[in-house]
Parts: sequence; C-alpha cells; structure tokens
Amino acid sequence: MNQAPVALYIHPAKQSVDLYDTPARYKFGRPYGLIPMGVPALMNLLCDHNIPVRGINFPLEKKLNGEFNLRQWLQTYREARMVLIDLHWYEHCYGAISVAQVAKEVLPDAWVILGGLTASAFAGEIIRDMPVVDFVIRGDAERPLLALAQALMDVERGVMPDLSAIPNLTYRHNGRVMENPRTYCARPEDFATFNFIDLDWLEHQDEYFVHEYLVIDMELARQAQAGMDISKYRGRWITTARGCDFECSYCGGARSAHKAIAGREGIVPVPVETIVNEIKHLIEHQVIQVCFSYDLAAMGEPYWKSLFRTLRKEQIKIGLYNEFFQLPPPGFMKEFVRTADMQHSSVALNPYSGSERVRRLNGKRYNDAQFFNALDEVNLYNVPIIVYFSLNLPGEDEEAIQQTIKLAQSIYNMYPHSKLKILNSCHTVEPLSPMTQHPGRYGVDIQWRTFRDWYEYCRNTQLQLPGARTGEWRGFDLLPPATRSVEAMADAWDAAADGHEATWWPIPPSW
Ligand code: SF4
Repeated sequence: MNQAPVALYIHPAKQSVDLYDTPARYKFGRPYGLIPMGVPALMNLLCDHNIPVRGINFPLEKKLNGEFNLRQWLQTYREARMVLIDLHWYEHCYGAISVAQVAKEVLPDAWVILGGLTASAFAGEIIRDMPVVDFVIRGDAERPLLALAQALMDVERGVMPDLSAIPNLTYRHNGRVMENPRTYCARPEDFATFNFIDLDWLEHQDEYFVHEYLVIDMELARQAQAGMDISKYRGRWITTARGCDFECSYCGGARSAHKAIAGREGIVPVPVETIVNEIKHLIEHQVIQVCFSYDLAAMGEPYWKSLFRTLRKEQIKIGLYNEFFQLPPPGFMKEFVRTADMQHSSVALNPYSGSERVRRLNGKRYNDAQFFNALDEVNLYNVPIIVYFSLNLPGEDEEAIQQTIKLAQSIYNMYPHSKLKILNSCHTVEPLSPMTQHPGRYGVDIQWRTFRDWYEYCRNTQLQLPGARTGEWRGFDLLPPATRSVEAMADAWDAAADGHEATWWPIPPSW
C-alpha cells in the first residue's frame, strides 16, 4: 500500500502562483519549467529512507490544466511535514517565494525548505527576510536534506529539533540566523549511489519526459509547430559532472562560484559506469535523447573515449546532445557520430561574439579560424548544430555587434540550413558570477548584489515586454554608462535575421 506523502516537492514557475489566474497569463514570458537535474536524486533518497514524497512541476501542471489550483493540491496533503522548493536558477527567485507563501498559508505547520545554487548564495538573507522559508540547504544537498528530514520526522509536528549537527544548513532559531558549517560536498563515488533517473514521486512524469525533450530538439519543435504528433519523443538532461573548470564572465555556475557555494574545487565527475547505467535506465523509460550537463569534451579525452567506447560495447544507441564549452577537440566528432543515434542528436557551440576580444574576455578561448575549423568538422559529419551568441556581454557594443552579425552570416552561408539554428539573446548577471566579483576586469558596473535585487528583477520580468530586447533589467551596464544602445544592437541583429528566421532567430521577446 502506498504511504501518505510527508514531504511535498514543488518546482516553481518564474511567475507568481496567483498571476497565473489573471488575464496577465496570456502575456507570460518563459515559465522555466525544467526541474534542476539534481532534484530526482534528492527525492529518491528521501523515498528510499521511508520519507514518502509527492511532487509537482507547477508550470507543467498549469500548462496541462489551466484550472489546476496549487492551494487545493496542498490541501489534499494536510499531513505533510515539509514542503521542498528548488531555487537553483535565479530566474525562480520570485516564483519560489510565491510558492513558499502559498505553502505556508495552506499548511502553516509544515516546514518550508529551499535549496539550489541561488538559495545557497543568499541563504542568510533569505532566512533573515523571508519568514515563509524555514530552512535553506547550501551547496550539495543530498546528505544534509536526508539528515534534516529525518530530524524533523523524529519530533512532533511543528516542533523544531536540535539541528546544530546538520551540515550545510541555514535556519532561524529564536529569531537569529544560524549557519551550520558546510562540511558536505558530493564525491564521485556518491554519484553511483544516488538515483537521478526515476520520477515516480512526480505527478505527470510521462508528460514531463516529453516536456523536457522539447526544450532542446529543434527538429521536433518544428514538427510540433506544424501540428505533428510528437508525444512519443522523450528526452532527459543528465549530470556528467558537478562544478566547472571555467570562469565565463556571467556564469553563476563558474569554478569560483562553486568554490564559494559548495566548497568544490574544479569538477567532480560522474563515473562513466554510472552514466552508462543511467542511460540504460532511461531507455527503459523510452527516452530517445540524453543531454549532457557538463561538456564531455571538457572532461578530457580519456573520459569521453571511455564513455563512447562503453556505449558501443554495450550496443546502446541513443540520441546525444552535447554543448561544447570551448571547441570539440580533434577526433571527438568522429567518435560522437559513431556512437550516437544521429537521428536524435545535435551539438551546440557558444562563440557569443564575432569579436575575438569580446569572446576571450567572456571566457571562450578560440579565434575565428579555430571556430571555423571546428564547424567544418561538425559539418563533415552532417550534425545538427545550435550556435549561441549574446547581445550584451561585457565588451559587446555597437561596433562588436557588426562583427557578430558578420560571423553569423558566414555561419549561415556555410552550414546547411535544415541542420542549423543561430540564436542570440541578452544575458542577465548571475549571482556570484566572475563579473560580480571582479567588475573592473570586465569593464562593467554591477547593479545587483542582494537576493532582493534578483527577486525584484524576477517580479518585474514575468511578462513579455519590449525591454527584454533593449537591455532592461540585466543587472549590469558597461562603463562608462551609455557606451552602447542595446536596442540599436537588437535592431541590427533582427534586421540581419530578417527573412531567415527559421534558422537565424530574432532576439526573443522575454527574459
Ligand atoms: S557557462 Fe562557462 S563557467 Fe558556466 S558552466 Fe558553462 S563553461 Fe562553466
């Protein structure tokens, strides 16, 4: 017999809960419905230790049924002891607190627990200023969350146990913010013991598998737009490593940010055998494409060669998606196409700017000649590719955008259009990104510092508005101020993309 859930999990939307039930919902920007990749391991760990979980992806529930009511859903679990909300990406700052408010309103005796990179970066401020949040787990959460949940289960409902021994925990005690030492950081061997795959605790898990796939596959997105049935296609992001070895200017998941948040030095790779076992498991769920969180090429030749060799040896054929942090090394693409189901595979490159100076400033260490050599090799194997640019990174200005457009045009001229997507959008500054720590190095003025800053950003950017393409609400500006007009740069990009939109996308209308 199924046990009643004592822990509830809710993935928030970017937008607030109640805004969904107003006419404003017709003007929503992207709700950001992907659940952070680490969440399944957390929920499965609780379930495996006799702490049953029931979870929802709130924006997915609203997409499937506009009448879905979060308060009613919470009311059906009146005995729940805790409500878990991910606050990983800063885009969910406002939506996560909105979900926490509703949870406290309906279940006042349940503890509200937050975790994720953004919650970790601002744990003290959140606990100090947001009374609807009881606990934040900083950094890696597996062992700390289990220990916290077990401690909360050992006492009467609503009673706060002694939590001083729970690692990585920030909480409120007698009106004071308590910060326990951060002593837990996952090791490679931990990954083999966690279950990142099963979603039995998640409502509408079938729809979620499909939902996740559509985010990445350009061909199927086209088919969906044309009204074709794509419901049989399933995909999934999987963790290949935690941390990062790079320092891209804007990135809150950079090496230094992971060091500050989780105490991690560089990357902690997931062992090849674990990845292969996860892929086998996903195939049982009819998944046809896996997307790697950490660039396989950046994990080093022994790693990717071993992974590709093992997949072939075990006769596992599945679509693969890999986003190169730098460029594919020699020989990588050959191994990739020998291994993958190429009908459902693609790769991505991020030159970000046509100016080599701007590209290098922001963390991409290659020039145009090296870029085109790599692109030639990808083209040789006829692999679908997404190429990402950024409209507003440090250094990008009205002169640089002309070089960016020239580079986009060259890519457009040389690569088969049916296999190509060229995207450009504005970056928002991320908490603890290198840019926030060393603004002088990047020639920028940083306008946001606190959780409240990102919370206000999210509150003000829930809808599609013209400011999304003109640089509003991005949290930084080039120095000296008014050095560039992002609007003029967006106009120049869109004019160049005009007539090619199926391949060369205009600047998106939302944040
Ligand atoms: S954007 Fe750069 S710093 Fe961030 S995870 Fe990717 S490679 Fe690492």
